[in-house]
Amino acid sequence: MAECVKVAVRCRPLNSKEKGDSRAVIVDIDNNTGQVTLHNPKGDEPPKSFTFDNAFDWNVTQKELYDVVARPIVNSVADGYNGTIFAYGQTGTGKTHTMEGAPTPELQGIIPNCFDHIFELVNGSSGRQWMVRASYLEIYNEEVRDLLSKDPKNKLELKEHKDSGVYVKGLNAFVVKGVPELKNVLEVGKKNRSVGATLMNQDSSRSHSIFTITIETIEQTQAQPEGHIKVGKLNLVDLAGSERQSKTGATGDRLKEATKINLSLSALGNVISALVDGKSGHVPYRDSKLTRLLQDSLGGNTKTIMCANMGPADWNYDETLSTLRYANRAKNIKNKPKINEDPKDAMLREFQEEISRLKAMLAAEGGALPEGVAAGPGGEVVVEKVVTVPKALDAAYLEKMRRDMEEQMKAELASKQAAALNDEQLQKVKEEAAAKAKAEADRLAEEKKKAEEEAAKMQRKQQKIKEEMAKKSQDAEQIRAEKEALAKKLKAMESKILKGDAAGGLAEVTKKKEEELKKKEQELERRRKEEEERRRKIAVMEEAQLAAEEKYKDKADEAEQKTKKLKKLWKKFQEVNAEVEDMYKEFQREKEDLLESIRMLQDQMQLKDMVIEAFIPPEEVQKVMKRAHWDDEREVWVLERLSDIGKRESATGNARRPVSASGQRRPTSDFAKLANAMGDMNPRFKSENILNLELDLPERTTYDYEGPGVDPRVQAAINAAFAEDGELIFVGSEQNVHLGEVTANVAQRPDSAKKRPASARKGTKAAR
Ligand code: ADP
Ligand code: MG
Repeated sequence: MAECVKVAVRCRPLNSKEKGDSRAVIVDIDNNTGQVTLHNPKGDEPPKSFTFDNAFDWNVTQKELYDVVARPIVNSVADGYNGTIFAYGQTGTGKTHTMEGAPTPELQGIIPNCFDHIFELVNGSSGRQWMVRASYLEIYNEEVRDLLSKDPKNKLELKEHKDSGVYVKGLNAFVVKGVPELKNVLEVGKKNRSVGATLMNQDSSRSHSIFTITIETIEQTQAQPEGHIKVGKLNLVDLAGSERQSKTGATGDRLKEATKINLSLSALGNVISALVDGKSGHVPYRDSKLTRLLQDSLGGNTKTIMCANMGPADWNYDETLSTLRYANRAKNIKNKPKINEDPKDAMLREFQEEISRLKAMLAAEGGALPEGVAAGPGGEVVVEKVVTVPKALDAAYLEKMRRDMEEQMKAELASKQAAALNDEQLQKVKEEAAAKAKAEADRLAEEKKKAEEEAAKMQRKQQKIKEEMAKKSQDAEQIRAEKEALAKKLKAMESKILKGDAAGGLAEVTKKKEEELKKKEQELERRRKEEEERRRKIAVMEEAQLAAEEKYKDKADEAEQKTKKLKKLWKKFQEVNAEVEDMYKEFQREKEDLLESIRMLQDQMQLKDMVIEAFIPPEEVQKVMKRAHWDDEREVWVLERLSDIGKRESATGNARRPVSASGQRRPTSDFAKLANAMGDMNPRFKSENILNLELDLPERTTYDYEGPGVDPRVQAAINAAFAEDGELIFVGSEQNVHLGEVTANVAQRPDSAKKRPASARKGTKAAR
């Protein structure tokens, strides 16, 4: 649904200087009907009146202004609309006072008040999740700067995205959790603003600043359990002063700024005119950074309010009138605000996805953190295998074994033969027993070796397992750390998603307050409409009266009636005439401004042309011109890299090596050519340096010419003669001063050397 840009006018009180100068107040403001009447302090022309959506005189408080001007827009932003609040006006009329104000609860302006308001909405909500982020930039001299960046002087570029429109590439945005964080963002940014001092206002800003708050909300309903995202963007714009540059007394660099700022503001004016006029389809958004960035706020998908600020004093009549006209034109801009639903780039959705990803990751890792390492991270249980190694066999044991065996064999033989063993048999038994015992011992030794090997193997294995386990425990430690980091990130991300818990009927309170305000607003609107209607009726009636064919009693009556009518018409005619005159003057002024900036640009151009002509060889200029091309996106001239040109030219077959000397690949002197022709193979003659590499010795040496010696007496006489004149040149050793040479030298010496210091003279005399 189309709706017009709302325009409110705010007039500041007379300041102390104006009071001191006993300035007259030339504006009448009707807070109820939004009518502003401006009296011309000079002429007796009729006063001019304008009607706006709201008009505030100097008695309005910051809170009242907020409730009427900003509150409805912030509410809409929370519901997913885009909103913009402009502060427009001459420097020193209270733009910054309106937007930022002073840091006390009563005097704080729209920006801090909307911080409070937004978090009231967050805390008063239920069943809704929120994410709030803020960015802050300024446009200074047609350059976009990020006020929250580490290098606020860096220029940023505007880019265009086919879905989300124009945006600033690389602009910082901070996700905030509460009012203090937002205030901090504002403070940091304010410190980085470029402020210049002009006569009008010592700390007035010559730049446009845009504080942007993006509010994303998600509401889960039964129909849509995954939620329904709305994104609203609120631009809070403090424009640079709208005054004409001559009044501020700016010169030099500051003047250049003023010209450029006027350029941006006149682009804004042109955009407004084009939108209101509606005849030409082209709206010149691209003429300035400001209009490009705020394209959406002017004739686009945004609810926009302009707060025109002005002063009440007579000396600002022209500027005040121009502000009122500007504001009056802006009233007619039509916007088509709509709720931004489920945009692709919603950060809340991204956060939610990331959070569930983190949660899944944590869950996949077993939820709880691993305890110790007894059960390895893989879950396998390590069993220790016990290997027993037999003891080594000692000699006594072997002997015993042998004897036992002998006894056993003897017993066996005896039982078999049942007779005493003879010596031979005995001997045999002994031998056999020894052999058997040895075999047994060998077997045991073998067994021992095997066992030992096995034990070593086991030990190695155990060592390996131990190492593995150590590694695994280290890994576990790492995993634990990673998990902790994940959990931390998860917590941080979750904390950025705000949930209103609406405890204690806070939602009710908020709702009630909103309703009250709405009622108040409706009442105001009704009264304003009534007033408008009344005025319209009067106008219609007057018109009808003028047009009506009246019946006259007699000639005298007719004359009287017609004179009355004529007078009324005459007054109307004069009003319109004055209006035309004003318009003409204003256009004339604008034209002069433009001509002035054209003149200045031409001046600069001529200077640059002169510098180029005088100091840069024409062929170099040609080369540079050939390389230079205009970058539409960044709005700067760029020099193409030589290698790129080379590539392009070789692609088109244009690239050729330049010939530096006829028939020769390199510059070669005649002498070298001759030497070459005579068959001198010295590589020095292959190509010759065209540079003169000889040393450039100075003509004069440090040693001065020594003339023939002079008789000391003559010298003394000469010295005395010159000393009186105070003209003698003192050249170190007085003995060597020769008159003829001295005069020759005088011509070469700098003035500073001509005066002989008094102390030196005295010294010389004393020496004589
Ligand atoms: P601008 O930003 O338009 O150049 P400022 O906001 O800096 O102007 O205002 C200039 C001065 O006037 C400041 O000292 C400010 O406090 C004062 N001022 C502006 N508007 C009001 C107002 N409505 N009530 C009281 N003081 C005001
Ligand atoms: Mg300001």
